[in-house]
Amino acid sequence: MATSCSTEAEKSFPSSQEGSAETTLRCLEFYSGIGGLHYSLEKACAILHATGRVLVPEVVKAFDINTIANEVYEHNFKRAVCPKTILSLTPESLDKMKASDIWLLSPPCQPYTRQGKQKDTEDSRAESFLHLISLLPKLTSRPKMLLVENVVGFEISETRKLLVDALHACQYRYEEFHLSPTQIGIPNSRMRYFLLASRISTPNDYIAPINTDLSLHTTLKNSSAFLNPSPRPLSAYLETVTDQNAHYDQLQVPLAVLKKSGMSLDLVFPDSVGSCCFTKNYGRLSEGAGSVLQTAGAEVKGIPNDPESLLALRLRYFSATEIARIHGFPDTIFEGTKVTTKQAYALLGNSLNVTLVSELLVYLLSWQKL
Ligand code: SAH
Repeated sequence: MATSCSTEAEKSFPSSQEGSAETTLRCLEFYSGIGGLHYSLEKACAILHATGRVLVPEVVKAFDINTIANEVYEHNFKRAVCPKTILSLTPESLDKMKASDIWLLSPPCQPYTRQGKQKDTEDSRAESFLHLISLLPKLTSRPKMLLVENVVGFEISETRKLLVDALHACQYRYEEFHLSPTQIGIPNSRMRYFLLASRISTPNDYIAPINTDLSLHTTLKNSSAFLNPSPRPLSAYLETVTDQNAHYDQLQVPLAVLKKSGMSLDLVFPDSVGSCCFTKNYGRLSEGAGSVLQTAGAEVKGIPNDPESLLALRLRYFSATEIARIHGFPDTIFEGTKVTTKQAYALLGNSLNVTLVSELLVYLLSWQKL
């Protein structure tokens, strides 16, 4: 499959046409990974379609330097990801893509994580996003809308300050959020920072009132998913396997981990309505990397003297398919790829909750007529 950053895709799609019954939404997806933002946009457009607003999402170009993630993306979306660093983009190359409806961005989070050194703009992994921020004022054709996803902690960073300064300078309105999938009934904590922005180039564009409250929002008003969440238990996402034992063998928490981490593991049951955030180390360093499922025995109270007694609880990791389901990805996301289980956990750990982000995109898309 071709991996050049040529502009074939944009040649074959017309720009969005205001007023037409069907509007193509031309998008750029930066830091595309396994395509969480692409799936979210498709889902948001499907939700809007049901309300009579027909937006056809077209990811004109996706960018990522991770070849394993790109394999998954290309396999599922049947299109090449640009594997060059985002640092190599210029205002001219971006303008040429004619993808100025929406930019979706999930830049590396390591410079801002509370567990990390929080080197922020001094961290080399922040460089490409700072580069994009610096390009925004130089573009002839700026995106009408943007969605940025990152970790909690980003909101106090210097990078965020530079981002909102650029948004002000380029006349965008924006709103920021801290949201987790648990707020819409999904049994998994994954609190993340989000920024939605929309350009104020023509005031008549607006179909939603301008919100002047720039505080960090912790809910998404007007979203029925947030207003009436219907909590689902983990069992709704578990694989049904005919050979339970074979499944358990592959996923069981090894005795060595029980000896090392034992009771500091977060144990959940199939009927639990919550679980801890699955990180990229899931399945390896168990403590704090995500919950494990207890499939036998009663809830353990107190610390057992003998870690081997934990074996009777038949503790198992969630499979990559189950985590993909919880995040709102298709079951088949890794099918037909060469990705190992360890790599699948890492890719999912870097990704996002598609169902949650689609709700945010539905909201953002209500800000403009397009
Ligand atoms: N939203 C994505 C994951 C984003 S994680 C998903 O749904 O999977 C951040 C991604 O940024 C990683 O995949 C990493 O490979 C990519 N990345 C980091 N620096 C980059 C750069 N300079 N250019 C392009 N991609 C980069």
